[in-house]
Amino acid sequence: MKKVAFLFLLHQKWPNMETIVIIGGGIVGLSIARELAETNRGDEIFLLEQEAFLGHHTTGRNSEVLHAGVAYPPHSLKTKLCVEGNILTYELAERLNIPLKKTGKWILATNDAEAEGLEKLARNVVESGAVPLVPHDPQDAVDDVPELKLSRACMFAPSTGMLDCAGYVQALDRHLAAFENVYVIRECCVKSIDAAKSILHTNRDDIPYDFLINSAGLWADEVYAMAGGQRKFQIIPYRGEYYRWKKATLEHVIYPVPARFVNGGDGSMISSLGIHVHRNYGGEVLLGPSHICGDVACKTDYAITTPPQVFIDAIAPFMKQPPTLDEVEMAYAGNRPKLFEDGKAIGDFVIFKEGNIVHLLGIESPGLTAAPAIGRYVADLLRH
Ligand SMILES: Cc1cc2nc3c(=O)[nH]c(=O)nc-3n(C[C@H](O)[C@H](O)[C@H](O)COP(=O)(O)OP(=O)(O)OC[C@H]3O[C@@H](n4cnc5c(N)ncnc54)[C@H](O)[C@@H]3O)c2cc1C
Repeated sequence: MKKVAFLFLLHQKWPNMETIVIIGGGIVGLSIARELAETNRGDEIFLLEQEAFLGHHTTGRNSEVLHAGVAYPPHSLKTKLCVEGNILTYELAERLNIPLKKTGKWILATNDAEAEGLEKLARNVVESGAVPLVPHDPQDAVDDVPELKLSRACMFAPSTGMLDCAGYVQALDRHLAAFENVYVIRECCVKSIDAAKSILHTNRDDIPYDFLINSAGLWADEVYAMAGGQRKFQIIPYRGEYYRWKKATLEHVIYPVPARFVNGGDGSMISSLGIHVHRNYGGEVLLGPSHICGDVACKTDYAITTPPQVFIDAIAPFMKQPPTLDEVEMAYAGNRPKLFEDGKAIGDFVIFKEGNIVHLLGIESPGLTAAPAIGRYVADLLRH
């Protein structure tokens, strides 16, 4: 009943109670709702999701890795919120029964240039304040993961974990349902915003707000423009495709040295740590993701077009026996909300308040890891 009669409840509001509306039922919108529900004075919180299911877009289409925060530029918002988010997610997982396993991850260098890149990565980690990488003799990696070839050099990231995103979303949804002042409304698409009057026009009804949070993922640029924002943001979807390795024996999370640390390049452009191989929480072994510039006009194009051999070739340098073509099959794809302003890639999370609206743009990887820290960050912005 609570979920259906939301407009009725809006009109029954107590004096002084404020209405906070969140657009977007992905992991970030849900995490903001949780943070506000647990810390505020009883304001009404509405979370609006255009789809019938929460987490239907980027949240349900990623690597599900709880990142350590080792590879992003040290003073970026991505690093700060990823490092905090890693710690907060482990705490939250215990409290809310979120499916999460601390796996650690091996990062392998297969030649001299990559070994040098691995050293640079280790220095980046120290500057970033993340849990340091642990250098190992390459034989240790083979002893731990018999499927690996002996690498040129390797390090272990102990704080990496593996999440089950569907279970994470369900756990937050269940948790939010216990708060009398929180309403999660599915199939409610925000069509336009009257920012002067603080009213949302949706496919279901008009909804007045005191504070609005734009956590619309791939569509956050469009919501920003709907709210009258003057900055020239554009989100271009960058597709990441995955293949499933049927009957693989590998149990671990294995990454290459991120290309930027080997070839140089602009740190702000990082949105992929390279094609890796991992066993997910549900037990499937996946190869991916690719990194393909998609079509702005179709942010929901999840077609897999990269041939499987590309993925096999990417992991072949560190696997004793990479899969053959008939051992892999298409799994799924997700789109990274890559943010550009005035045509220039930003490469970091962009979170700011304009009037009574908080906008979150460019929440690409490691947004899943950072989500609880983003929740805190946004709650602080609302209070100040
Ligand atoms: C290939 C790939 C791999 C990744 N791997 C990792 C990883 O291993 N670890 C990690 O930490 N991060 C990873 N990420 C990043 C992570 O998945 C995202 O940062 C995170 O899921 C973003 O969540 P979100 O809630 O911001 O966006 P979303 O999950 O996209 O949620 C936004 C929601 O807003 C809704 N919405 C949009 N417009 C409207 C509207 N007008 N009205 C109502 N609702 C609306 C959408 O339907 C959507 O459900 C990866 C991403 C990709 C694509």
